[in-house]
Amino acid sequence: MDADVIVVGAGLSGLVAAAELAEAGKQVVVVEQEPEASLGGQAYWSFGGLFLVDSPEQRRLGIRDSADLAWQDWHGTAGFDRPEDYWPEKWARAYVEFAAGEKRSWLRERGMKFFPVVGWAERGGYDAEGPGNSVPRFHIVWGTGPGVLEPFVRRVKQAAHDGRMRFYFRHRVDELIVDAGFVTGVRGTRLEPSEAGRGQPSSRTSSGAFELSAQAVLVTSGGIGGNHELVRANWPERLGAPPEHMITGVPAHVDGRMLGISKLAGAHVINEDRMWHYVEGIKNHSPVWPEHGIRILPGPSSLWLDATGKRLPGPLYPGFDTLGTLAHLRQTGHDHSWFITTTKIVEKEFALSGSEQNPDLTGRNLKSTLGRALPGPTAPVQAFLDRGEDFLRADTLPELVGKMNALAGDLVDPARVEAEVTGRDREIANGFSKDAQVTAIHGARHYIGDRLIRVARPHRLLDPKAGGLIAVRLHVITRKTLGGVETDLDGRVLTPSGDPLPGLYAAGEVAGFGGGGMHGYRSLEGTFLGGCIFSGRQAARGIVRQL
Ligand SMILES: Cc1cc2nc3c(=O)[nH]c(=O)nc-3n(C[C@H](O)[C@H](O)[C@H](O)COP(=O)(O)OP(=O)(O)OC[C@H]3O[C@@H](n4cnc5c(N)ncnc54)[C@H](O)[C@@H]3O)c2cc1C
Repeated sequence: MDADVIVVGAGLSGLVAAAELAEAGKQVVVVEQEPEASLGGQAYWSFGGLFLVDSPEQRRLGIRDSADLAWQDWHGTAGFDRPEDYWPEKWARAYVEFAAGEKRSWLRERGMKFFPVVGWAERGGYDAEGPGNSVPRFHIVWGTGPGVLEPFVRRVKQAAHDGRMRFYFRHRVDELIVDAGFVTGVRGTRLEPSEAGRGQPSSRTSSGAFELSAQAVLVTSGGIGGNHELVRANWPERLGAPPEHMITGVPAHVDGRMLGISKLAGAHVINEDRMWHYVEGIKNHSPVWPEHGIRILPGPSSLWLDATGKRLPGPLYPGFDTLGTLAHLRQTGHDHSWFITTTKIVEKEFALSGSEQNPDLTGRNLKSTLGRALPGPTAPVQAFLDRGEDFLRADTLPELVGKMNALAGDLVDPARVEAEVTGRDREIANGFSKDAQVTAIHGARHYIGDRLIRVARPHRLLDPKAGGLIAVRLHVITRKTLGGVETDLDGRVLTPSGDPLPGLYAAGEVAGFGGGGMHGYRSLEGTFLGGCIFSGRQAARGIVRQL
C-alpha cells in the first residue's frame, strides 16, 4: 500500500479532507494533474462568498435570519422532485444546519474572518416559498478565495512536513482500480513538467504511467465548467438549447473527466443535467485561461434587455434569479443580452467575481476596501470600462444604441430601447411604483448594507447628472456543476443499486457538493465553497470511521 488514503484533486474539498485525514493520523497521498502553482484549484480564484445563517455580521446589520427561514429558502430554490434527490436533500438539510450552527465558529477557529457588510445574492423576487434568499447571507471572507484556502494549505503543508502527506503534482488519474468489487487504488499518466502559472492551461503530454494503492480513494476532482463539450452534452431541455457561444468562468482543469472515470468504476452519477451558469459574463481583457470570462455581481438597478432591446420580464432583474433569467434568454434566439445603465450605477453596483478582481479584499487592505463606500468605481471595474470589449459608453441613447448595433450586429431596435428607458425613467419619480424593479430598488435601500455599498440612489437613466450612459454586452458564462457522484452522508460513493462502492469516496463539486447535488436545481449562492468544506470534512470523518 502506498497510503491509507489517496485524494484525487488538490482543490478546496481535497485539501480540507486531506488536512482532516492527516490530523486523524492517516497517511495521505494527494494526486493532482496540475503543477503545484495551481494548488487550491478554483477556490483560489473565487470571491470567497460564504452562505452563513443568523451570523453576528447579519445581526449587526439588523438582518433577522434563522435556520427555518434558510431551509424555506433552500427548499424553494432547490425544487427537489426526483427519487434520486434522497441523498441530495439529506445533504442539503445537514448543510443548512451546519451554516446556521457550527460553520462560522469552526472557520473562525481556523483563522477565517469576514467582511462586515453581508451581500444579498439571488434575491428571488417570487413568493415566500419560491426561490431566492429572503435576506442577505453572502459573507465575504477577508482575503477572498486565497483567504478561504489559507488555513487548509497551512495544514496540509504542515502534514507534508511531518511526513503524513505526499503530493504528486502532474499526475493525472485515468482509472480507478477495482479489485473484487473494492476500489483499491488509481492508475494514470505522469504529465510532463509544466511551467504554467496558476490557472493557465498546462500540457497534457505524457512522460510515463503510474499506479498507487490505498485502503480508500477520495475523489475531489471538481465539476465540468471548463469543458464546453460536456456542458452542452448535459444541457437540460428546460433551459432551451445550449448557447452557441459561451465564455468560461473556471480554469481548463475543471474538465469533468473524473465523473466518467468514476462511473466506469461503478459509481452512480446523478442529476447531470443540473448546472449553474451565469448570465452576466463579460470577456476578460486579460485572460488567464481560454475564453476567460468574469461574472458581474450586479446590484438591482440596471435595465436588463434581451439582444433585440426588449426588457426582461419581472422578476428577472439583475441579481434576482440566475437560472430563471438563463431559461428566459434561451427562448430569445440569441446568446447575449444587455445591461443599460449609468456611470453612477456602475460605480456603486458593479462588483466583479474573482479574487484577482478584488485586490482590496484579497489583499486585506482595510483602507482601500473602505474606499468602496466613496464615489467612483473600483480599479478593476474602471479597467473594464476602459478596456473591456463588452463595455460601451455614450452621452445619448441613440448614440449608445448605434454602438450596440455596431458591436453585436443590427439586432437592437432603437425605438424599443427608447420606450423601455423612458418608461422606466417615468416610474423613478415616485418612491412607490407599479414597476416591480423600481419598487425592489427602493426596498433594497432599506437594508443598510445595500444602501452603503451596493444600491445606487434611484435616478433616471437619462439624468444628465448620472455621468453618462453605459451598455454592457452580457454572455453566458459557465461555472458550476450541481449534479455529480451520489454519496451518503459519510461521503461513501453509491452504486446505481444504492449500495456503497467499497473503498470509494467523493466530495466537493464532483459530488454535487454532497449527495450528488445538494443544491437541487438552483443555488442560494455562496454555497459552493462551504459545500466543499462541509463535504470534504464529512468524507474525511467517514473514512476515518471506516478504516
Ligand atoms: C471565479 C470564481 C468565483 C467563485 N466564487 C465563489 C464564491 O464566492 N462562493 C462560492 O461558494 N463558490 C465560488 N466559486 C466556486 C468554488 O470556488 C468551487 O465550486 C470550488 O472551489 C470547487 O472546489 P473542488 O475542490 O470541488 O474542485 P476544484 O477546485 O475544481 O479542484 C479539483 C482539482 O482536481 C484536479 N483534478 C481533476 N481531475 C483530475 C484527475 N483526473 N487527476 C488528478 N487531478 C485531477 C484538478 O486539476 C483540480 O485541481 C467560484 C469559482 C470561481 C472559478
